[in-house]
Amino acid sequence: MKIFNSPDRISVEINRIRLGKKRIGFVPTMGALHAGHLSLIKQAAKENNTVVVSIFVNPAQFGPKEDLKKYPRPIKKDLELCRKAGVDFIFLPGNKIMYPQGYSTFVNVEGLNEVLCGSARPGHFRGVTTVVAKLLNIVRPDALYLGQKDAQQALIIARMVKDLNFPVKVKVMPTIRENDGLALSSRNAYLSKKERNDAVVLSKALLLAQTLIDNGQRQANRIITRIKQLISKKRSARIDYVSIVDLENLMPLKKIKPGCLIALAVKIGKTRLIDNIIINEKA
Ligand code: AMP
Repeated sequence: MKIFNSPDRISVEINRIRLGKKRIGFVPTMGALHAGHLSLIKQAAKENNTVVVSIFVNPAQFGPKEDLKKYPRPIKKDLELCRKAGVDFIFLPGNKIMYPQGYSTFVNVEGLNEVLCGSARPGHFRGVTTVVAKLLNIVRPDALYLGQKDAQQALIIARMVKDLNFPVKVKVMPTIRENDGLALSSRNAYLSKKERNDAVVLSKALLLAQTLIDNGQRQANRIITRIKQLISKKRSARIDYVSIVDLENLMPLKKIKPGCLIALAVKIGKTRLIDNIIINEKA
């Protein structure tokens, strides 16, 4: 496994690989790797000859009051996990090389970035699309692996890739969960024991929604009310949003339809967690 800090160096090395007509799979991350990240790496390894992972806690996607400083950075452990998972190249840039003095270019996917997490975190997706655009230009992969856990992020990146003609295939992989249903997230590390127990309410609420739909409920507002009631039972929980939206454009739906997205964001104590499900065809 080779580790690169410089965009130019990794680009040169990847160019060499590309000349050998090898397929390159790319997994962008902010580190603090867990089984969710590893599932993306595994899929990338299955479908490509070379796997590139980036580890970069991107300051451009954090708001001024967010957790940039305290975001976990267990770099040694991350590198070990990548080595074991068979990653070929790690891209581990510093802030100054990604955003040198005078940096002024940002990529903005309009509309999609203003709803759901976009309204609570203004500028967040602008930071995400900017860094992913840069990473795609540096790595120039054949396939890009993203998690359904961040459904809005995946949709926005797919839109950017299409709109800006990036020659890459976007693959969105299912959410990996703990045994009790909690979606794996690097931010779960912030939770106290009590909060960790309470946090399971996010996935429980989504399961409740699926059950209501399986039993014939089609009114989005009724389902949203039931989800909110369930989550509100936890004293540590503060709901940011619960939304049922069209997966194409993230516009709210009045009635459930197959393939729609139920997405929620909830603060458990001080930790903001997100989760979602795509309603299966049975609906
Ligand atoms: P992050 O390090 O949080 O920026 O995430 C890097 C990638 O891993 C993103 O594409 C995420 O959607 C994905 N990811 C994070 N958590 C999970 C999970 N529990 N299951 C699957 N993918 C995930």
